Amino acid sequence: MKVHVYDFRWTDEHSVRFEASNGEKFGRKPLQVGDNLSLSIEGVVACAGSEREGVWQPCPDQVQGRAKCEYCRNREGSFVYTSFDGFNTDMFNAEDLAKIEGEHWVYLALFDENTQKIGVSKASRKQMRQLEQGSVATLYIAKAPNGTVARQIETLFRQSGMLDKVQSSAKKDAWQLDLSNQKAEEILRGKFDQHRNCLESHPHLKDFILENPEFTVWEDYFGTKAVKERPHEVHEVKLDLEESVSGTIVAIKGAFLLLDTGEDLVSVCGRDLRGYWVDFEETSPGLRLKQALQGALF
Ligand SMILES: [Zn+2]
Repeated sequence: MKVHVYDFRWTDEHSVRFEASNGEKFGRKPLQVGDNLSLSIEGVVACAGSEREGVWQPCPDQVQGRAKCEYCRNREGSFVYTSFDGFNTDMFNAEDLAKIEGEHWVYLALFDENTQKIGVSKASRKQMRQLEQGSVATLYIAKAPNGTVARQIETLFRQSGMLDKVQSSAKKDAWQLDLSNQKAEEILRGKFDQHRNCLESHPHLKDFILENPEFTVWEDYFGTKAVKERPHEVHEVKLDLEESVSGTIVAIKGAFLLLDTGEDLVSVCGRDLRGYWVDFEETSPGLRLKQALQGALF
């Protein structure tokens, strides 16, 4: 049975799930490393609806061509999480700002040797935020009393030259990263030292900087350690209409699932499937594309 994928998300330290509807009923497909997964793309992208206070509703306009329409995005009201810089409150009302009350962490996350970013998360999402974005390693640098202060620190680091967003396409080929944990820690601590002077313009923010920033690595949660040692090349695929893959999940990192089809290691982005009609019915292992893999051609 084909379903319309609404979301792909982490639910705890070891599990993710697809959330989807058949147009009326909403369902969830929980997954973890070791599970089998079959995916077959059965329909083009259309708005998969919206969720508010835990309740999903279908898109009233059945908008085609994108995973979420303007109406459904507005209904979810997640704008404050992505657009508020901590300083300019013009575009936000009290209800928006109430969503970012309570303690927040400010962190530097590493995706590979050349890609690091600054970010913030609610204290309750300290770990989950890192797992869902696929951070290889994280240095928590500050604990702020609310999301406004946390975003002020984030904004100053961004203005000082740190990225605050990393596209998922930049994270996808990091399954077999050749980077020791020690080196990752050196890079993040180095970045912090390089940029921390940006707070001199707002010295009160320095009070929230940790005396000893906390370093953490995430490979044990993703299962990526086992992948590093495998000689197979990982094939990154973006499934198109009438294409499919089936295999055993060997690792999950951020928005990406790594499947062992018996012949290949195939990486697919779970979040990229939002808005698509997908059939999860179990099929025999393998990757079925309309064209041969590029790697096989060159
Ligand atoms: Zn919609």
